[in-house]
Amino acid sequence: MNILLLGGGGREHALAWKLAQSRLLADEGDRLYAAPGNPGIAQHAELVALDETDHTAVTRFCRDHGIGLVVVGPEAPLVDGLADTLRGEGVPVFGPSRAAAQLEGSKGFTKDLCRRANVPTAGYVRTSSLAEATAALSGFTPPYVLKADGLAAGKGVVIAATREEAEAALGEMFGGQFGEAGTEVVIEEFMEGEEVSFFALTDGASVLAFGSAQDHKRVGEGDTGPNTGGMGAYSPAPVLTPVLRGEVLEQIVIPTVRALADAGMPYSGVLFAGLMLTPEGPKLIEYNCRFGDPECQVLMMRLEDDLGELLLACAENRLARVQPVKMRRETALTVVMAADGYPGTPARGGTIDLGQAEANGAKVFHAGTVLRDNRLVANGGRVLAVTATGANATEAQEKAYAAVDQIDAPSLFCRRDIGWREIARERS
Ligand code: ATP
Repeated sequence: MNILLLGGGGREHALAWKLAQSRLLADEGDRLYAAPGNPGIAQHAELVALDETDHTAVTRFCRDHGIGLVVVGPEAPLVDGLADTLRGEGVPVFGPSRAAAQLEGSKGFTKDLCRRANVPTAGYVRTSSLAEATAALSGFTPPYVLKADGLAAGKGVVIAATREEAEAALGEMFGGQFGEAGTEVVIEEFMEGEEVSFFALTDGASVLAFGSAQDHKRVGEGDTGPNTGGMGAYSPAPVLTPVLRGEVLEQIVIPTVRALADAGMPYSGVLFAGLMLTPEGPKLIEYNCRFGDPECQVLMMRLEDDLGELLLACAENRLARVQPVKMRRETALTVVMAADGYPGTPARGGTIDLGQAEANGAKVFHAGTVLRDNRLVANGGRVLAVTATGANATEAQEKAYAAVDQIDAPSLFCRRDIGWREIARERS
């Protein structure tokens, strides 16, 4: 069959790499297309120029190229309803409808749904008025958690230590700092605990656990400095024990999937739950409607099953007949190499020589690269995700950094402590 993958980051390179190994693409003549892709994805797919915001053009491409499955990597096209358009034209698509993607697209929507479905999460107030929001702060104790309702590329959350800071942040949010995304704000209780991510596949009725991961959002070592899209990750996250994983499925993921189906908006795709492991048990922080980046890279390194078949079963509502997902028992760990200046203004154009980075089984996923005169150069904030597996986090980290050290890229930097929490636990 022919498959179209949308997106062009490290997440999509990992998906392309794994899709290229699928039995769905085993026949001569089967094609994997990617738009816009990147030089890493081009090793596995034919890159095509397609504007994902132009739903008519994507649909036409699918019709003209006999596409049997569309895999949507990033959230924006999903929140924008691309999956609805494609399904309406009879094209199987991996990714939720516009209505179900509100789980990521509107924090208020998700909080209301959790309240109805009794899903454990922080208490909250949802408001679209500055005066009401300011008054509502009295119902909370510091630190105050303030969130712009809509998509804000991971920057729409402020944790304010004092009431003054909270009021100032609310003023900025309602003042247009996040545009449309900030016309409504959610104020939440602050939850204490360790964060972990859990991924599940669902076709709206059945749910298959996919795996756990932990990421490092801050730019600096020891989890300090400004937030980024993610500087590294590892999977599995043993802190999510089998018992806790069962609780997450039974109390959080399955009730959410049921509540969405009951509301007439069945969720199809991957459900990425951001969780806080609080003293009272796991609580939901947020949902994302796509694989994480760089969590996807470590999940794909561990996946034993045929990714294409799993995603197609999801798209065709056949998950009930699919066996539990098989993951290698090893730990996978990925180190993001970012361009100097990131997460501010990243330096573009720096040269990259990957050398022998992949010689010992590591994978270098491209995130922000471009070929210029046949040479690889940096072209974005996060540039590479260098990923390795090992018997545990300590070994996976050693292998990942050994691969990083093979790369000659003077304009890139990385954190040197990815996986530190788990490695400390392994040492103790
Ligand atoms: P991203 O897209 O970067 O995952 P986001 O903008 O969608 O983030 P959230 O995941 O809801 O926003 O929040 C970002 C971070 O803020 C969380 O990873 C967590 O560290 C912190 N956070 C959010 N809500 C709470 C809460 N109620 N209590 C404590 N910390 C919180």
